[in-house]
Amino acid sequence: MTRCLDCGSPRTADQCPSCGLTSAAAEVMFRRRFVKRTAIFLAGSIAFPYVSQVYPPLDVDLMLVFYGILFFVALMLAVILERRARNHQEVEVLKRVYSGFIPLPWILAATLFVNGKLDSQKNVVYHPATIDSRYNMPGIVRGTRRLFVRSWREGQKYERLAVDADDYDRFKPGDAVVVGVEPGALGIPWYYGVYRR
Ligand SMILES: [Zn+2]
Repeated sequence: MTRCLDCGSPRTADQCPSCGLTSAAAEVMFRRRFVKRTAIFLAGSIAFPYVSQVYPPLDVDLMLVFYGILFFVALMLAVILERRARNHQEVEVLKRVYSGFIPLPWILAATLFVNGKLDSQKNVVYHPATIDSRYNMPGIVRGTRRLFVRSWREGQKYERLAVDADDYDRFKPGDAVVVGVEPGALGIPWYYGVYRR
């Protein structure tokens, strides 16, 4: 049994009994929606790494790895979905799974944004630390810069502080610093700033 690409109803004739679209028209509609959804997903995929630099969680690298996997799975789904639609194969389940992925980058970005934005500056806690090492990976947009310090958190060896270019250049291994950390309005601790002691 084939289903209408647009509304998903079982198709008995070329014209869908449910939405009235012919199979060619339904494919055009499907494609239009697919492109729109993919664009929303890709825009969110830019928003999430951006927000993660504005209010960087302490575990930003872990989150970016998780995010990378999510992004890869969604793109795989998009490719398979597009191919199956082109070959007029069953797509209903895949369509639904793919739709579920579309808002995820936006939800993650909004979570980090609210977590940082609604946090009060009064909540900053300062931890004395010493710069252990640095890491710089130039990127197309802003690159990745990290200062490593020994962690004050239980069960965590190092903190990888997501610093900006200025702070990256200001500090060298061995420098005594204090690290400002905010608890996060949603309970995700995030890196506020690093200062010389
Ligand atoms: Zn239909």
